[in-house]
Amino acid sequence: MKKTAVIFFLIMAVSAFTGAQKKSSRNLPANAAITYLEGSFHVYDRLQKQIWSHPELGFLETLSSAAHQQHLRENGFTVEAGVAGMPTAYVATYGQGGPVIGILAEFDALPGLSQDTVPYRKPLVEGGNGHACGHNVFGAGSIAGAVAVKQWLEANRRQGTIKVFGTPAEEGGGGKVYMVREGLFGGVDIVLDWHPGTQNAVSTGTGTAIRMIDYTFRGVAAHAAGSPDKGRSALDGVEAFNYMVNLLREHVPASSRIHYVIVNGGEAPNVVPDYARVSYYIRSPRRDVLEELTAWTGQAAEGAAKGTQTAVSHEVIAGFYELLGNRRLQELVQQKLELTGGVIYDEREREFAREIVKGLNLSDTILAGVARVQPLREPSAGGGGSTDVGDVSWNVPAVSFNTAVFIPGSAGHSWQNAAAAGTTIGTKGLINAAKVFALTAIDLYSNPQIIQEARQEFEQKRGAGFQYVPLLGNRPPALDYRVKK
Ligand SMILES: [Zn+2]
Ligand SMILES: [Zn+2]
Repeated sequence: MKKTAVIFFLIMAVSAFTGAQKKSSRNLPANAAITYLEGSFHVYDRLQKQIWSHPELGFLETLSSAAHQQHLRENGFTVEAGVAGMPTAYVATYGQGGPVIGILAEFDALPGLSQDTVPYRKPLVEGGNGHACGHNVFGAGSIAGAVAVKQWLEANRRQGTIKVFGTPAEEGGGGKVYMVREGLFGGVDIVLDWHPGTQNAVSTGTGTAIRMIDYTFRGVAAHAAGSPDKGRSALDGVEAFNYMVNLLREHVPASSRIHYVIVNGGEAPNVVPDYARVSYYIRSPRRDVLEELTAWTGQAAEGAAKGTQTAVSHEVIAGFYELLGNRRLQELVQQKLELTGGVIYDEREREFAREIVKGLNLSDTILAGVARVQPLREPSAGGGGSTDVGDVSWNVPAVSFNTAVFIPGSAGHSWQNAAAAGTTIGTKGLINAAKVFALTAIDLYSNPQIIQEARQEFEQKRGAGFQYVPLLGNRPPALDYRVKK
């Protein structure tokens, strides 16, 4: 591109961006937090892109966690790193006294979903990792919100504490569960959380409680053609087990989910495998049903081992509670989300989004949704996914919402999401999320009776006899769960 063309392009991009910002901030109150966020797009665009460019898997997020911590330290937070036995977990704190508000920040990526910021499938690294759940913008948005809150506390000389919980390995490792178990959320009044989505909406579903269990079968190795009678196949054990689970599936509550992958099925067809391993996720919106399903699946594993003359052992890799919703907080966040508004694409972003939608065989009328805020939905039980935010929500009143980071119509954990999360669309979504955090926190600091109301609802929903028992038991963090074995 010629120099004049470059300058023209920059002017167009900047004016499109500032135009969108003006539009989206029309209704917002003028305060130090919002002023900070409206002037910091480039800061968080760089931070999210830095993390997006180095996608790291659960518990291995060394660079991502370090980038978070550095930014928080530079902005006056004290950071305690390597908490709860996890090298990449951290707690960052600013301020003094109560109320104490926590914000959750995730940063792990997914295997196999490497993707460039283009509207067609193009891995940057074949088979490499990618931010297909948008945790690069998730973490950066949470930090942006916390730093904005700090600006407000400082400018107004207010008492209050803001904490960022850097929570590793959301995708299967369950970092938050260990932080809860360690008591790191003690003294926190309210936890705020968000997740990149295809809409701007407050989350009102409970999701599902989950147990992730690895079953290892052991048999006897032998020449598969020469002396098969001397062998006992660990893979047979796995296959018989999976078959039984696929039969029992018919007889479990329809809201349950059971799925597996064989992570080790032997090395060569001419060797009867003496070792095989299968990873299971078992889910239900109800923890008591999950207990029954876990027991039944365990019986199927024992039965399969018996019938194939192999031995089976199991290891609970992680387990999360379903979410405990808080209507008072959902209503508060809805109000702040409506003030903030949706994500406004510029022409370049719209073109990118149109291409993605075309590839999904959908009409681009679907794109209008990103500029709107969804009405507050009724609370609902279930929904497929699970998150370790569940355990937090049973220990501190918590609330979660989405902003439109991903292109409508895209599936979760898709290359389309990895692509969108690395663009300025992702940054717009994260700045909106940060505004919602800041506005919500300011209301909570200014009106502590909202915290009382949220607390009351929380206590009542948990029930008097509630005792927190982690679904993953006493195990230490599975720090190597993403390391190929
Ligand atoms: Zn995910
Ligand atoms: Zn996620």
